[in-house]
Amino acid sequence: MTQLRVENLRKSYDGREVVAGVNFALAHGECFGLLGPNGAGKTTTLRLTLGLTQPDGGRITLLDHEVPAHAREARGRVGVVPQLDNLDPDFTVRENLLVYGRYFDLPRAALEARIPELLDYAQLGTRADARIQTLSGGMKRRLTLARALINDPDLLFLDEPTTGLDPQARHVIWERLRQLTLRGKTLLLTTHFMEEAERLCHRLAIMDHGRIIAIGTPRELIAAHIEPEVVEVYGDGADAWSAAAGKQLAERCEKPGETVFCYTRDAHALVANLAHHDARTDIRYLHRRANLEDVFLKLTGRDLRD
Ligand code: ADP
Repeated sequence: MTQLRVENLRKSYDGREVVAGVNFALAHGECFGLLGPNGAGKTTTLRLTLGLTQPDGGRITLLDHEVPAHAREARGRVGVVPQLDNLDPDFTVRENLLVYGRYFDLPRAALEARIPELLDYAQLGTRADARIQTLSGGMKRRLTLARALINDPDLLFLDEPTTGLDPQARHVIWERLRQLTLRGKTLLLTTHFMEEAERLCHRLAIMDHGRIIAIGTPRELIAAHIEPEVVEVYGDGADAWSAAAGKQLAERCEKPGETVFCYTRDAHALVANLAHHDARTDIRYLHRRANLEDVFLKLTGRDLRD
């Protein structure tokens, strides 16, 4: 069953289309990522699909309900993890779950019965009576995630679920999210972390200027949009090397900052050339497979979006 279908979705602010004809559909049990530079329209798309913002055009079907007309019914089966933790600092861990559950009109007994399982999921079993201020960033995130599961939703919306977390905490969240998809939940997440998208998402859409400019599995996107191998060259001699050899040996070279990125179908000749380069000139290099970040930067450009 399709969990969410968005057709020709449009929204303008101040005469400017920030969502400009977006189409995508989420299958049951998939983790779908929405990527894009700041201002691409990701958050607006999420808000529209939840019925929190009125669309100017298009059609949204969320868990068989038309949105925004029947958004309330749909939202009863959806969980939301907002970008910033908005836990109530005056309450304990357990109380935060209880209070949130009341928004869904869940009976107190059912709610109480669910809490141990949620605490367990959040790995906060021993912190049930702790105040929010005493939790680490990772713990707060896990609690926000557990809180979003209070109504046992079919579909979870996560807006940048690991922003601001250290690598250890991020890995724990990834593992928790994978567990949800194994349990048949459908996830829609936005992220700026390409590694996160590549590891977690079955499919992704890259958005820019209100439009989806590419959609597919991470592998499909890499295969369709970028040369498979990359050689990154840096050091004082990189520029001269690029002009003398790199540009001839690679399909494409870019120098957005201090590093020359050479994209190629086969890096043998490039690497051999670099390996035999005059040892007195300062050149270092890294040969790797192309990844999602390369695709993202190629499609959305390297200019800063503030
Ligand atoms: P993203 O989540 O990809 O960073 P957003 O959906 O937040 O992008 O924003 C897309 C564009 O819409 C931005 O230029 C933003 O300033 C604008 N925008 C978002 N919400 C509003 C609003 N309520 N009023 C006016 N402009 C808005």
